[in-house]
Amino acid sequence: STRIAATATAPATVPPESRSQERRLMHRSLTESPYEVISASGSYLHLSTGALILDGCGGAAVAIIGHGNEEVMAATVAQMQKVSYVHTLSYTTSSAEDLANFILEVSPGGFQHGLEKAYFCGSGSEANDAALKLARQYFYEKGEPQRKFFVSRAQSYHGNSVASMSVSSNLPRKVPYQDILMRNVSFVSPAYAYQYQRSGETEQEYVARLIAELDAEFQRIGPENVISFIAEPVVGATSGCVAAPKGYFAGVRKLCDKYGILLHLDEIMCGMGRTGTYFAFEQENVLPDIVTIGKGLGGGYAPVAAVLMSSKIVDTLRAGSAAFNHGQTYQAHPVTCATALAVQKIVRRESLVQRCALMGMLLSKLLMDTFSGCKFVGDIRGRGLFWAIEFVRDKTTKETFSTSCHFGYNFQQNAFKLGLAVYPGAGTVDGVRGDHVIIAPPFTTSVVDLG
Ligand code: PLP
Repeated sequence: STRIAATATAPATVPPESRSQERRLMHRSLTESPYEVISASGSYLHLSTGALILDGCGGAAVAIIGHGNEEVMAATVAQMQKVSYVHTLSYTTSSAEDLANFILEVSPGGFQHGLEKAYFCGSGSEANDAALKLARQYFYEKGEPQRKFFVSRAQSYHGNSVASMSVSSNLPRKVPYQDILMRNVSFVSPAYAYQYQRSGETEQEYVARLIAELDAEFQRIGPENVISFIAEPVVGATSGCVAAPKGYFAGVRKLCDKYGILLHLDEIMCGMGRTGTYFAFEQENVLPDIVTIGKGLGGGYAPVAAVLMSSKIVDTLRAGSAAFNHGQTYQAHPVTCATALAVQKIVRRESLVQRCALMGMLLSKLLMDTFSGCKFVGDIRGRGLFWAIEFVRDKTTKETFSTSCHFGYNFQQNAFKLGLAVYPGAGTVDGVRGDHVIIAPPFTTSVVDLG
């Protein structure tokens, strides 16, 4: 009954008469049709079937202020009336400049002490691609052109474009493209205590083991050849809201500093307040060199993502070519930036990041009270309004169900029938552990919605 099984048993050819009935939009699946949403407001989606769905995941943790916000719509229209588009080769707009100022001001240390500039593009994948190129350019201009390698982690997701997929280890999605992906990427273990901390091993010992593994990987490649280490501070779609054990990111930062390797944190899913602080890395006491954000930045009202970069990088480029020639037609688009700025102003004015932290406590209690006693629930974890339930076949061995019985997908489908949308994760599809669903409602969610 899973999606995977349905796809595998689909007929290879479809008769012309039923083909002409098919929708013309290329969907993710050629055999299953998605539901049509006719309107959306607050935390609810209205389907063409008449069903009302409580959006418990905001798509994939995107909708941070809920749907249909009129203030955001007004700001979008106002920007369209002012300037709908200009090319960044010759022009800038106040909406793009203001959004950059806003994001850097809420980042730890402010732009004077931490992240100095922001580059805006249309999706998380694009942001990560830009970040990989930026990191490479940093070393190129610094006189270290031999640095060609990226180190990432197993069970990570950084996007679907060729470069961002190359640094991801979402295996099933990569299979057909493996031969055209970048080869200068390697992977170390995820920091995923529930599944991989050994019995009898303390948290400190587990962290030391992970850092030693990363060090060994840097040594294998030659640390002087490594550009950056890429990681999600709280891992989203590949294992379900997994925060690293205490001290892990501090250890990673120390190791990167030792070898001059850049630390690139991917906060596309966990950033912009989702974990109860603007950036998830604030809870780890580290400052990255590069951060990528997306999803919550535009809250679903605009396709917008960003690369935030530290002064160290900006200074090197300034002293070198004085350029970042990663020009894209829709880079820093005035309307998407104005829309995102309107979303972010609402978040700040209504203290929604703080609200996210508070509502998160309530959500975690509700999830624990409701599900922790269930036979197949192995772990319930998260931060802020970013929570996951991990399903296991056996609570002692923590083994997952087989691929043909993906519990997360089944849970999602059954919850949907009851009128609740949750986001299912990779888990067993990957051949690895972490069969889960994510619950990530808007920060504006009410106590009634959560109940
Ligand atoms: N990085 C992370 C951590 C993500 O969760 C995602 C999307 O789910 C991406 C990158 C890719 O973003 P997009 O789908 O906007 O290209």
